[in-house]
Amino acid sequence: MIQDTWQRPLRNLRLSVTDRCNLRCAYCMPEEEYAWLPRADILTFEEIARLVGVFADLGVDKVRFTGGEPLLRRDLPRLVKMIAADARLRDLAITTNGILLAEESEALRDAGIHRVTVSLDTLRPERFQALTRRDSHAQVLEGIRAVQRMGWQGLKLDTVVIHGTNDDELADLIEFGKMMSAEVRFIEYMDVGGATRWSMEQVVSRREILDRLAARYGAINAVVEDSSAPADRFTLPDGTVFGIISSTTAPFCASCDRSRLTADGQWLLCLYATSGIDLRKYVREGASNGDLAVLIRSTWQGRRDRGAEERLTVTDRQPLIQITELRAKPHLEMHTRGG
Ligand code: SAM
Repeated sequence: MIQDTWQRPLRNLRLSVTDRCNLRCAYCMPEEEYAWLPRADILTFEEIARLVGVFADLGVDKVRFTGGEPLLRRDLPRLVKMIAADARLRDLAITTNGILLAEESEALRDAGIHRVTVSLDTLRPERFQALTRRDSHAQVLEGIRAVQRMGWQGLKLDTVVIHGTNDDELADLIEFGKMMSAEVRFIEYMDVGGATRWSMEQVVSRREILDRLAARYGAINAVVEDSSAPADRFTLPDGTVFGIISSTTAPFCASCDRSRLTADGQWLLCLYATSGIDLRKYVREGASNGDLAVLIRSTWQGRRDRGAEERLTVTDRQPLIQITELRAKPHLEMHTRGG
């Protein structure tokens, strides 16, 4: 196992398979048009699978497909199958907005995806429309129901909680999760990438989420577990488990074993990183797997970043990046790096 300067192992790889998305969420990708990654730069399935194989040689055993919206990448189940053929990758997951999930769920499971996470910020169609600027709420719910009908275990529903937007739906989402046999996870609004309208006032903190749920359900207990997963898990009095991802007010950089590969082959060591390693260049210039392994190993061993913790020390916190800078450097976008 290789470790970085803070003894964090390289284990968890997020693959952003496209920078395109079919929603325009106000907290992530609020503009209508973006500087898209050039098509010729997008890694082929063969290039992605080869890189994942090198990562697996170095200890990666968990891969999450993300984006952009990963189900917009044509023929995604073929890539999943290629990656699933490597038995060292014991956990293959996908994060999706759910719009195309009903039609893809069988193919994804057959190809080898183990677990699905659907982003669901609201149960109200009109809110969904206002938040995402698209009229696709029914399709998202249908995608979630399709996974539930298949009896596919491990379904999670991720909600970014924002003051004045959806913070009155915490209990409704928990109840919906129960019906769908899904674990709900509340995500603190982060000041990363495309969150150009972020402000601290809109963040609903982990503390506040717990207080509100306790007021509604009674005593909440923390689940004690040794895990590198981003969510801290809790139980309600009836045993329902839910999670909170508190990247903004209580970051967890010390246990972060995640890195990200963008659709055009930039390897990012932190969600807050402003640059990465251009693995596409090495692959296309003929580097061997051994060369790539040396590069990846030495880069990881030199990793020192604690991006979210550093943001905590900033006084008068504003959005990390402004829209003009994002236009000039699309790799800074959340939808490019894979949330
Ligand atoms: N399109 C897919 C989806 O919607 O799940 C995958 C990519 S999306 C960037 C991954 C996750 O990042 C989503 O759950 C989204 O809500 C979350 N996200 C995006 N911007 C965020 C922000 N500013 N703060 C917290 N979470 C954010």
